[in-house]
Amino acid sequence: MYDFLIVGAGFAGSVLAERLASVGNKKILIIDKRNHIGGNAYDYYNEDGILIHKYGPHIFHTNSADVFNYLSKFTPWRNYQHKVLASVDGQLLPIPINLNTVNKYYGLNLNGLEVEEFLASRAEKVYPVKTSEDVVVSKVGRELYEKFFRGYTRKQWDLDPSELDASVTARVPTRTNKDDRYFTDTFQAMPLHGYTKMFEKMLSHPNIKIMINTDYQEVMNEVNYKKLIFTGPVDEYFNFKYGKLPYRSLRFKFETIESSNFQETGTINYPNDYAFTRITEFKHLTGQKHDKTTLVYEFPEATGDPYYPVPRTENDLLYKKYAALANQLTNTYFVGRLATYRYYNMDQVVAQALTTFKKITQADLSAKLPTDDERILEKRS
Ligand code: FAD
Ligand code: UDP
Repeated sequence: MYDFLIVGAGFAGSVLAERLASVGNKKILIIDKRNHIGGNAYDYYNEDGILIHKYGPHIFHTNSADVFNYLSKFTPWRNYQHKVLASVDGQLLPIPINLNTVNKYYGLNLNGLEVEEFLASRAEKVYPVKTSEDVVVSKVGRELYEKFFRGYTRKQWDLDPSELDASVTARVPTRTNKDDRYFTDTFQAMPLHGYTKMFEKMLSHPNIKIMINTDYQEVMNEVNYKKLIFTGPVDEYFNFKYGKLPYRSLRFKFETIESSNFQETGTINYPNDYAFTRITEFKHLTGQKHDKTTLVYEFPEATGDPYYPVPRTENDLLYKKYAALANQLTNTYFVGRLATYRYYNMDQVVAQALTTFKKITQADLSAKLPTDDERILEKRS
């Protein structure tokens, strides 16, 4: 008999398995239908011996000291600040849009104050800011929006930015200084020996049994467990009772070339050309030295593994119907990007899992506390 059956060995499932086993002293069975742990953050050495991310580039960044300190128990880190260029009209320009982007694109030599005025003069007045188009045109105007955002977003989501929540393009800020880092979080680093090694350490506990190549459907009636943690797609859990939640997928094309490097930054975005959105060269991220280099091209797809929830009002409303069903279940917890239908980064999933752990622990404690009736009986005896 297991205390918990955990479905999914990505960040959500693995953090909860680790906490419940090592702090809660619970017996855990964690399963994944894939042939590995780590979920979408899984990495491995390819046949040329280059460390690659099977499900696209994963760069760790967070402002949460709690999340960073927690993961630091399982891995040393390599400092890494991700940089991205966008290929626009034959030029490679820094994205997020910053002072250098504007100067280079328009052939100007503005300073920080001047660029603020320049962008303000192009920005469109939009109120309230609701869509992914609104966010960008209200900051940088239509021309830069069309060059840097519209094409990329249409490719990635098969939707116009005007059909997507503001939160999607709001992930990419606009800057009037020269800071050309993709992220500005306090903690930015890559697990020194890779994500999979970190997950192995997290899950290596005598109370945790791992079963890969195992679908929940196959074992749900075979395994004895008290509580369930589900980190797969929430609509699938409820047999699509209210219809399918839309997810966006990707096809990854890997290419190893006989040269020690390929491009000047970790990622180059192609907003307007080609069917892929971006090319990432892993060695920038991992710091690995090798006389060859491996790239990944990301081709957005409508079908395939569910990678991205699609942030739009109607999808959120549909998700809320599933969330209401989920809330009615006792002893079942839904955690992670797919189970809570949130466009979460890795650190947000870790934070959500740590919060769920606290909730479970508190629920456990209050279940153990005597009820009022029991207290009265205790007093009488
Ligand atoms: P997942 O990692 O998806 O894990 C869920 C697991 O559940 C999967 O392994 C799945 O196989 C398993 N599962 C599902 N259904 C079943 C079932 N029925 N039975 C058994 N197992 C099941 N975040 C960042 O912070 N930085 C980045 O740079 C970054 N880049 C990304 C790039 C791409 C292309 C993608 C798609 C995501 C990226 N992310 C990034 C987000 C990151 O991948 C997620 O935040 C994180 O991996 C989510 O963890 P999770 O545990 O919620 O889900
Ligand atoms: N985006 C864009 N142009 C870019 C980079 C991003 O239009 O050069 C938009 C696009 O809609 C994308 C979203 O901003 O899906 C979020 O970008 P991010 O790099 O955070 O995407 P992720 O790494 O999650 O795929």
